[in-house]
Amino acid sequence: MSESILAAEPAIRLAAFLGVLVAMALWELAAPRRRREIPRVIRWTNNLGLVVVDTAILRLTFPIIAVGLAAMAEERGWGLLNNIDAPFWVAVVVSMLLLDLMIYLQHVMFHTIPGLWRLHRMHHADLDFDATTGLRFHPVEILISMGIKLAVVAVLGPPAVAVLLFEVILNATALFNHANIDLPRPVDRVLRLFVVTPDMHRVHHSIDPRETNSNYGFNLPWWDRLLGTYIAQPTKGHEGMEIGIEQFRTRRDLWLDRMLIQPLRGPASGHALDPQNTKKEPTE
Ligand SMILES: [Zn+2]
Ligand SMILES: [Zn+2]
Repeated sequence: MSESILAAEPAIRLAAFLGVLVAMALWELAAPRRRREIPRVIRWTNNLGLVVVDTAILRLTFPIIAVGLAAMAEERGWGLLNNIDAPFWVAVVVSMLLLDLMIYLQHVMFHTIPGLWRLHRMHHADLDFDATTGLRFHPVEILISMGIKLAVVAVLGPPAVAVLLFEVILNATALFNHANIDLPRPVDRVLRLFVVTPDMHRVHHSIDPRETNSNYGFNLPWWDRLLGTYIAQPTKGHEGMEIGIEQFRTRRDLWLDRMLIQPLRGPASGHALDPQNTKKEPTE
């Protein structure tokens, strides 16, 4: 079974990615939540260009990625779940939950360690918030994430199908929860009990460091609520809040070449442990 999954993997990924991206783009046109500050052409060209760079670097660096390793572990009996007698569906659910918790913890770590924040802040330096923001990650962050994920897969031994499902869902939810779409408030209120909504994740893209360092979840909203990093709404409201971080606020900073060298520029301020954060009252 795992061989057919591996064969179908690229097609499943691409179809889900393009399908959700087009759906979100149309939804953003039909019912935008916020006014755009930056012309779409600058951000979309560079954010999508970054996806191409990221994918190429990832493929060149890792000969095997998470689904492949999970299939291999299944075959050879590596990892916890391949050595206990759990029903298949239990193994799938447990794996997906643990992978999501791992992504949450990793996100907290990228906000907390200054050197890692230098990589991850590029995701936050986008000056608008739409579906393509969900794709904006520095290639070195992508490589580190994959290294961590491979280690987790090796230890946990999840079913390959669970890893594939998790990655496809994460890709789709990242496009969804960054989308500039206006969900009716009652829908948002119910939906965010089960999945991270755009209004919940937009708080994470606020320029106010206390809000930047909150709502770390990408899929499930429960980790933030359980572990005390949840902020329901931005202080200035969704229309009034500023998107981005203090640094890198020019249009030139949105270009692909500037994104790639951004980790080397300026101080690593604004990370979760920066003592300056508490001093910065939101300016009125
Ligand atoms: Zn973040
Ligand atoms: Zn984000």
